[in-house]
Amino acid sequence: MHKKSVRIAVAALALTALLSSCGRGKLPQYDYEIDMKDYKSAVTVTDKAYLILVNKQNPCGEDYAPENISAVPSELTLYGKEVKLEANAALAAEALILELHARGYTDIVATSGYRDYAYQQILFNTYLGNEMAKHPGWTQDQCEAEVLSYSARPGESEHQTGLCVDLISINHPSLDESFAQNAAYEWLTENAHFFGFILRYPEDGEAVTGYSYEPWHYRFVGVKAATEIYEKDVTLEEYSK
Ligand SMILES: [Zn+2]
Repeated sequence: MHKKSVRIAVAALALTALLSSCGRGKLPQYDYEIDMKDYKSAVTVTDKAYLILVNKQNPCGEDYAPENISAVPSELTLYGKEVKLEANAALAAEALILELHARGYTDIVATSGYRDYAYQQILFNTYLGNEMAKHPGWTQDQCEAEVLSYSARPGESEHQTGLCVDLISINHPSLDESFAQNAAYEWLTENAHFFGFILRYPEDGEAVTGYSYEPWHYRFVGVKAATEIYEKDVTLEEYSK
């Protein structure tokens, strides 16, 4: 090798070492059961894009979609169905579920991830139809208000970012507050941040998040932000201020 190319190679090595020592690539002090080799760079992303805030006050556009999308391995999803997420969030969710399984919470799988605007529109309209059928005396506005207490309008769902995943137990495959009674839930509230996830809609957080308690819904923001959010005990809305 020429002297010059040796110097360039050394400089490149030094730069790589510098980059990996700050933020991305550095795992927190945590005793991982699984081998994090394939997940390390995904769970430790620090790009601002992972902090995007989507809620009723901050809708994302009809065309918003994650740049790279991949599927969570089907053996880690409910009935093997397709659950897609933004690529790094998908790897992080895979690591989180594998860790849960390694710690004995083998009933936990992913059930819902990325949903595009059109799909959310279909969901919203279906729920609205159900409420109108259930309450013939109500106006459309009243029915909409009811739907909005448990579902998002198209463009206002965090699922359109591809950065959140709904977890479920195969022993009780419905998304309701009983998930908080599952032994895995307590582990998740204390440890999900080591995989870059936060409990997005905590109990009693409705005034800030606009959503009632969702113990099953986890949002990926990367380990650094997730740890800060966990330690400060705040919501993403408060953290984003
Ligand atoms: Zn969800």
